[in-house]
Amino acid sequence: MLLRNFKKSNMINAFYLARALKTFRPHHQFLCRGYSTHIATGNTACEDHEPSFLKSVEMYFDKAAGISGVSQKTLSHMKAPDCMLKVTFPIEIKDKVEIITGFRVHHSRHMLPVKGGIRFATDVDEQEVTALAALMTYKCAIVDVPFGGAKGGISIDPKNYTDAEVERITRRYTVELCQKSFIGPGTDVPAPDVGTGAREMAWIMDTYRQFHPNEVDSIGCVTGKPIPLGGVRGRNESTGLGVYYGIREFVSYPEVQKHTGLSGDIKDLRIIIQGFGKVGYWAAKFFEQNGAKIIGIGEKECGVYNPNGLNIDKLFNYRRSRGSFLGMPNVDIIEDPLEILELECDVLIPAALERQIGLRNADKIKAKIVGEAANGPTTPLANEVLLMKGILVIPDLLLNAGGVTVSYFEWLKNLSHMRFGRMTKKWDELGKSQIVELVERNVARKLSETEKKQVVHGANETDLVFSGLEDTMISACSETRRTAISKDIDYRTAAFVNAIEKVAAVYEGSGIMFMN
Ligand code: NAD
Repeated sequence: MLLRNFKKSNMINAFYLARALKTFRPHHQFLCRGYSTHIATGNTACEDHEPSFLKSVEMYFDKAAGISGVSQKTLSHMKAPDCMLKVTFPIEIKDKVEIITGFRVHHSRHMLPVKGGIRFATDVDEQEVTALAALMTYKCAIVDVPFGGAKGGISIDPKNYTDAEVERITRRYTVELCQKSFIGPGTDVPAPDVGTGAREMAWIMDTYRQFHPNEVDSIGCVTGKPIPLGGVRGRNESTGLGVYYGIREFVSYPEVQKHTGLSGDIKDLRIIIQGFGKVGYWAAKFFEQNGAKIIGIGEKECGVYNPNGLNIDKLFNYRRSRGSFLGMPNVDIIEDPLEILELECDVLIPAALERQIGLRNADKIKAKIVGEAANGPTTPLANEVLLMKGILVIPDLLLNAGGVTVSYFEWLKNLSHMRFGRMTKKWDELGKSQIVELVERNVARKLSETEKKQVVHGANETDLVFSGLEDTMISACSETRRTAISKDIDYRTAAFVNAIEKVAAVYEGSGIMFMN
């Protein structure tokens, strides 16, 4: 069935690709709510005429929109970003005043709060933040997280500043968000993204609380916080673990095994990952723990490769102590950072940045599956090339949704003011002990202490978070698969169709449209 899908969609793709190649010339301009989106250049994976990240997300949306049963009125409302904040503020750095630029975009407020990470990187601009915010709208819908989509960022390279300076920039940005009502547990809840982590989330929360000292739920204004400050266990690992669950799920489908020749056993997978940050590291860890062979890791300075498998913690410690993979023993060093994407493997996981697979390298990709852990790693034209080559693409808006899923759990924990499992763990253990005693009496055999511990163990916060995440990823993958099969379309289009239909149901059901 799926093989038939690929053949049919390849013909459509060939047409789409030819048309797209013709249509997208360097002078092409895209207008969105009054501002133009530049065609991003200077990226060696992409041709200059390939669409920007924002335009790419819109092209994916348009392709799925035509297949969904949603009305044009609702689609045009859904596609346009709702509102955008651009702030500039001065920061005194080493006796000089520097003007810092930050953004926060609410793509869709059909559900509140809106949710999405905050990125610190030099490339942060209006179109990138808007593209990421749009992906958040669809991502939340795919995993049934009841939030709208948002994203924020500051255009700085945090490595150019001391920790104290990054703290001042983060707090000043948060003041702007507070003053303009772009943050709050019921309105907008940021989270970490590229260049930010638990530390920045703690500063954001602390600044927000200074403005809202009497707000009982104030710690729910941001997720991805350190555990002692209201974070949830498992958030750090969540996006990488979700990537693992998602790929495990897809390789278990018989049609995927038939198409790729993979056995479905994680232990048989050879994996390459681009980006060894929060998402890439944890994805690598979970695949390694479950027996897969990680044969390549790419970073911005170079890549490392060993066909016999890499040791993830050794790599992590080496890079942390030296700041680079260069000089690492017992591995091949791949000097061109993009080359790692082109090596032979079963699953390629881009987990760094957008636009890493473009028209210049798509044809050289040799993986059987591309699992998009990063947001927007594949341009639409490159996506068509991959599909034509028979490569399965598990799309970003589905595969990296583990992060927002566990952020949702953290937000719920903050609103309930209680650790998950606190009221139930002992009660569960008591009930299970009574069952074990009953079974022991009836079969006249005593369980060993280890066996008993395993059976009786009541779920703690990590157990509950991981099982909630696993269940969410399995359901979202199987919904995507169902739509792909029933509509004879690829997984990305299927994920977008599902998201569009779910968001449309809220728009239309709530009368949000004010239309006849
Ligand atoms: P991060 O900053 O922790 O890690 C990104 C890593 O990519 C860094 O180690 C960086 O050095 C590396 N990198 C940058 N440019 C590179 C290049 N050209 N080649 C190879 N490596 C390069 O960020 P992260 O949180 O791991 O996010 C990675 C991606 O995952 C982003 O696209 C982000 O939007 C997406 N994502 C993150 C989360 C999350 O919870 N953090 C959730 C969903 C999606």
